[in-house]
Order: sequence, then C-alpha cells, then structure tokens
Amino acid sequence: MMRVCSASEPAPGRLENEDHVFQYGDLVGVLDGATVPDGFDTGCVHGPTWYVRQLAARIGLATAERPAAALTGNLAAAILAVRADHGDRCDLDHPGTPSATVALLRYGGDHVDYLVLCDSPLVLDLGAQIRVVSDDRLRTAMADLRQKALTVTGAGGVDQATRFRRAVTLQRQQMNRTHGYWVAAANPDAAYHAVAGTLPLRGPERVRRAALLTDGASCAVERFGLFDWRELLDLLTDVGPAELIRQVRLAEANDAQRHPGFKRYDDATAVFCGFDPE
Ligand SMILES: [Zn+2]
Repeated sequence: MMRVCSASEPAPGRLENEDHVFQYGDLVGVLDGATVPDGFDTGCVHGPTWYVRQLAARIGLATAERPAAALTGNLAAAILAVRADHGDRCDLDHPGTPSATVALLRYGGDHVDYLVLCDSPLVLDLGAQIRVVSDDRLRTAMADLRQKALTVTGAGGVDQATRFRRAVTLQRQQMNRTHGYWVAAANPDAAYHAVAGTLPLRGPERVRRAALLTDGASCAVERFGLFDWRELLDLLTDVGPAELIRQVRLAEANDAQRHPGFKRYDDATAVFCGFDPE
C-alpha cells in the first residue's frame, strides 16, 4: 500500500500557485509551471496556472484510460490533449507557450513506475542507498547560455533588464530542442525525453519511501544545504511536507536579508510517498 502526504504553497506575497500536486488513484504527480516574466508574451490567453491544472487533469485521464501503458506515452497523450484544450485563440508555436516540469510516481502493487521531466526531482529511499532521479538538461542548457552571454556581452555595457530579456529569449529558444532542454509544453515528443523507469517494491532493493519535489522545495538540499537527501526524507516522514516548506521559507528569508535585491522566493511543493510491505 502507498501512503501519500503533500504540501504546496505559492511564493510569499503571490496569490497564484503555479505548482500543482495531484493524486488520481495510484498515480501521484507534481508539476511546476514556468512563470512568465513581466512584459513577455506567451501567445496563450490562459496562463501557467491554467496550464498545470489542465495538464494534471489530462495526465489523470490518460492514465485512467490506459492504466497499463507507460507513463511516457500517457504524458505524451496528455500534452496532446491540452493542445486541443487551448482552442483556436492560442498560438501554440509561440516560443513562450506555457510549460511545466513533470514528476510522476505510479504505484503498481509490487513495483513503482516513475517519470521526471525537467527540474522537479524524485528522491527514492532504496534502503542502503538514496537515489535521486533528476533531469539536469535545463540546468546544463542555462549554464551554457550564461557562458555564451558572458562572452557576447563582456563584463559591462548592458543593463540588467536587457540582460534578463536576452536570457529569457535564449532560454525560450532552447526549449524542447535537441541539445537544449525538454519540458511539458505544446510538443508531445517532450514526454519521450523524460527520465523514466520502474523499481521494485519487494526484495532488498525495494523502494521504501519517495519524495516528489519542485525546485522550490528541493532547494532545501540543492541551494541552501539545510540537510542531505536522506535527512529530507526523514523530515517528510517524521514531521511532514509542510515543515519542509516552512524551513525553506526561513532559509529564503535569511538569504534575502544577506543578499538584498537578489532573488528569490519560489512556489514550493513536496509530496511524500511511503510504501508498506504487504
Ligand atoms: Zn492557451
């Protein structure tokens, strides 16, 4: 049996949460919608919050219709269905079309299936080992871009707003492209670029616990170093996902004090799944 417990919270001061967490039967998922920077077009009349809710619903439907199918195929079907949901008013070829990271875990009795697309990691307790399933292509693509931007612009001469505008434009050009990064948006092919697999729930290598996180929560380990991955799972087990988010908010507030003007708060989501042997 799978026990699920989750918390999701928008960044302080923001009304809309562009993260989304869902459970449909044996399927648990976390989506992190890409925020649209002020002043940028998307070609879409709906927006990121609509996109993540719609995509979650479509993933649920696809999985209900084809419970035995691979998660990649179901995600591709869901992305395709959301294309139609946009209707005629949206330009789905727009480089800023709404997008979301995806982390999925499906309970299968004696095994779990998982899928990770873009930077929402899955943390798995396999007993002796903690495995983190992550998709680092966005991070790699961004590091490449920063390197290029430095070479092109040199040290100065361009104001921060212009640099930001260029960075967003460059990032959009890398979306869902070979040598770029893959994310759920308008192209169903992205699903086949996800990191996906199956792990046992029986035997010595079995999955004991799992956490699905958006980067607003995984930053507890990756950015703030509050604890390691096993300690993060222990916190989720002993106290719960809301406590993880509370600690992230404290770390963000401390950071904001130390580096005024420097980014940032983020929507944060954590889901804990515990597996009891039958
Ligand atoms: Zn739209």
